[in-house]
Amino acid sequence: MEESLAPVENSSEDVLSMVDVLKEENDLEEEANAVLGDSDDQNCTYPKGYVPRQALYACATCDPENLAGVCLACSLECHEGHELFELYTKRNFRCDCGNSKFSGKKCKLCPEKEETNPKNQYNQNFKGLYCTCHRPYPDPEDEVEDEMIQCVICEDWYHGRHLGVAPLPSCDNYSEVVCSDCMKKHTFLWAYALQSQETKTLVTEEANSEVDVEGISPEKTGNKVEDNSDKETNKKSQNEENCLLVNLQKGKVDINESGAFWKDGWRKKLCKCANCMAMYKDSCLEFLVDEADTVHNYEQRGRNKTASSQYEKGMRALSSMNRVQQVEVLHGFNDLKSELTDYLKKFAENGKVVREEDIREFFSGMEARKRQRATDPIPFMCK
Ligand SMILES: [Zn+2]
Ligand SMILES: [Zn+2]
Ligand SMILES: [Zn+2]
Ligand SMILES: [Zn+2]
Ligand SMILES: [Zn+2]
Repeated sequence: MEESLAPVENSSEDVLSMVDVLKEENDLEEEANAVLGDSDDQNCTYPKGYVPRQALYACATCDPENLAGVCLACSLECHEGHELFELYTKRNFRCDCGNSKFSGKKCKLCPEKEETNPKNQYNQNFKGLYCTCHRPYPDPEDEVEDEMIQCVICEDWYHGRHLGVAPLPSCDNYSEVVCSDCMKKHTFLWAYALQSQETKTLVTEEANSEVDVEGISPEKTGNKVEDNSDKETNKKSQNEENCLLVNLQKGKVDINESGAFWKDGWRKKLCKCANCMAMYKDSCLEFLVDEADTVHNYEQRGRNKTASSQYEKGMRALSSMNRVQQVEVLHGFNDLKSELTDYLKKFAENGKVVREEDIREFFSGMEARKRQRATDPIPFMCK
């Protein structure tokens, strides 16, 4: 601030950049928060139970032996300065911070926890290892530059070159990946992974239901049809005719050893008939047909939340200034921001340096504008 107190000639560049900085800071914050998504940086998520998706960390300082994961707020509050493995996001996890895995070290944010969280699933990532090659990331011994891609099923991370697909499709061409182990475990997915010539196992968008249904028999598909009544049988075979998976499996299904790359919207195309839904449940894959489960969705929620948290921050800042009253708060932080930006631009255009008193003047000027608005007959929008 000191620098700006002295008048500087021809300083339009500096001042312009100040306006830019305001804007840039916003953009950066927005991106950073999208990665942290919906995760709460203030409160331990334990009371929320098994959170559908959240940012998680493993602490190598507190917990060198056990596998344990802590939430974002705990990583900041209870494990500050510790050696943390960033696990990015995982689904259906309950914060372990301070439970029996932490040998007596209590959580500062939420000390009352059960001994363990039996439904949590842990993989090698909690020990700081990734991929089929079980290496740390970043890996000091790995000289190949390679991106890490997360499997949407097991949520482990894989080197692009270790997914068994070459050449890798460009990232514009797929939205999610299932690793080779998971494809092996859930072979039914290969029926959806129609082969395309150019890029093996890149799933085409045309995985639709227009498949010849002739000759589908219940024995062939392994589905049981009970002979309770004709009506019941009809209903069941109807179900099978409508089962996209059964239809797809009638065609030629190539089962590979590789992972599979999936295009945007592939989950929507998974069959949701009663048989398939039961199968997802048995295989713990129900999340696949849950739109809200995708990382994309999670990040979008983060972006939305960021927008509102900036708004809240602005409101807090405003209300701490005595001159600014509730009605101005309702007018919105965005209004204030654009007004302030416009105000600062004038300085930039005139090559003037912004001083503290100018900012003060801006806020007292707001009082006048507020009174003006109060007489304005047009109802204002809150956003
Ligand atoms: Zn926590
Ligand atoms: Zn720790
Ligand atoms: Zn904690
Ligand atoms: Zn690898
Ligand atoms: Zn996997």
